[in-house]
Order: sequence, then structure tokens, then C-alpha cells
Amino acid sequence: MSIAENIAAIRARIDAAAREVGRSGDDIILVGASKMNDAAACREAIAAGIDVLGENRVQEMTAKLADNAYEGAPLHFIGHLQRNKVRQVVGKVDLIQSVGSEALLLEIEKEAAKQSIVQDILLEVNIGDEEAKSGFAAEALAEAAALARTLPHVRVRGVMTIPPADATREENMVYLRKVQALYVDINEKLYDNKLEYISMGMSGDFEDAIRAGSNMVRVGTAIFGQRYYAK
Ligand SMILES: *Cc1c(COP(=O)(O)O)cnc(C)c1O
Repeated sequence: MSIAENIAAIRARIDAAAREVGRSGDDIILVGASKMNDAAACREAIAAGIDVLGENRVQEMTAKLADNAYEGAPLHFIGHLQRNKVRQVVGKVDLIQSVGSEALLLEIEKEAAKQSIVQDILLEVNIGDEEAKSGFAAEALAEAAALARTLPHVRVRGVMTIPPADATREENMVYLRKVQALYVDINEKLYDNKLEYISMGMSGDFEDAIRAGSNMVRVGTAIFGQRYYAK
């Protein structure tokens, strides 16, 4: 299967899942998680109509940017972002999805101010309270959102999550619904219902994520094939 065929198949599944819950597939943004895939693969996905490409390694993204890999599609940063690499990401991407600590939030504000821009971001929720994962704890999200609201060079557009990889389908569904509820809550209380994005769902669970309210899915393997990590 080609990248274009994979994207078409995923689109059909997105549509079907959206319809099940009375929504339209047109309202769901498909982000191609293109890590470990080269510029040619990115261009192929863009030619096939992918909505957005998402990268999660700064070095790889910087190299592919220099290679014009993302021309014709918005670019999101979706991976763990270290504070010392903020300078290489702010102003380079349309949306930083993975803002999961107040320290990172403040660093992004500082860099965006320096560049005189407003950087769009999502707040990442560590919904499974996993030690090894970044993201705000569910209980800390409202406070982070309130802080972000005071920062003039950062604009929160919604939330993002990666539930625990070892969850059963039922457990995963509970996590997804919790994030949806958190989103609705901060959107109402802090953002006048102006937030737009709930980014959740990957190759293995994007249909369930849509059923739970996601409108932005990040799909890697199911579009680009298996990734082979060097040992
Ligand atoms: C790689 C990645 C994905 C996509 O994962 P797949 O299981 O390959 O679809 C989604 N989100 C993030 C943050 C990723 O790093």
C-alpha cells in the first residue's frame, strides 16, 4: 500500500467513526506523524492531501525543514521538547502540541517574545499519571491554562494527550473521555469556549479517540509503515 492509499483508507475510517457519533470526518484534522520518514515521504503525504505533518524530534525536523519537506502543509511539533531546544521550534511550527510543564510554557513565552510572535500551543495532559511521560497532571491542567492565559506571546488552542500504551481498550476509552471532559471544563471556565483542538488518537486508537471527542488525530505507522529504530 502506498502512502496515498493508506491516507485514503484512514480518511474513510475517520469518516465512519465521526458519523457514528453524529459528527463529520471533515471536522477531524489528520496529522501525519512523520518521524523517521524522509522528506520524500513527507512530500508524498502532502501530495495525497494530509492536513498537517507532525514531528517529534527537533534535530530531524530541522534537517527536514532545510530540505523543504513540509512545503504545502502546516507543521506541528508533537514530541517531548527540552527547554534548551525551544529556540529551534518556536516560530518554526504552526502549533506546538506538547507543552506539558510550566517551565516549558514560560520558556516558549520568552522565545516568542524575543521573536515578536504569538506561538500557538496545546497543553499536554499526562492522563495516566505516568512517571516517564511529560504533560500536566489532570489536576494541574486548569492552573496551567490560567497561567498560559496571562502570557501575551502564547496562545492556547486546546489540549493533547497520549494515554498509557499498556491500557486495555476499555481503560483507554476512560482516559480519552477524561481528557475530553477536562477540555470542555477549561474551555468553558477559562477560554470562553474559544479553544478548538482536542488532539488524541494514534494508529491504534484514532477511531475510539474520535468517538470520545477528538478532532485531531496523529497517525504515524498506519500512514508511513513500521518505523525501524536503530539498536
Ligand atoms: C509517533 C507519534 C504518533 C503516531 O504513532 P503511531 O502509533 O505510529 O500512529 C502520535 N503522537 C506522537 C506524539 C508520536 O510521537
